[in-house]
Amino acid sequence: MISEPTGSAGHGMPQPAVLRASLLHCDDCQRPARFLNPTRAAELAAVSRSTIYYWMRRGWVHWRVLPSRRRVICLESLSHANSLLPVEAGEDTRKAG
Ligand SMILES: [Zn+2]
Repeated sequence: MISEPTGSAGHGMPQPAVLRASLLHCDDCQRPARFLNPTRAAELAAVSRSTIYYWMRRGWVHWRVLPSRRRVICLESLSHANSLLPVEAGEDTRKAG
């Protein structure tokens, strides 16, 4: 079933965070990879920013420092790091409200 969307897309369509990543060469991946700043990386991995920095210290994610001295994280490595997360036994930190 093919139906053209009738609504006008207009400008200013929100872009997924992933698309706003910078494409840089990753020494670890040995190919161009998308890099995100720690804030975006934390959002994407659904962890806190301190967790991202922890992963960076442990070398669980690829990261590099931009000429502007900002640190950015390789998106490829981020998915790996996420799977490396230790499973916390039955700990549910969700809070209602
Ligand atoms: Zn990488």
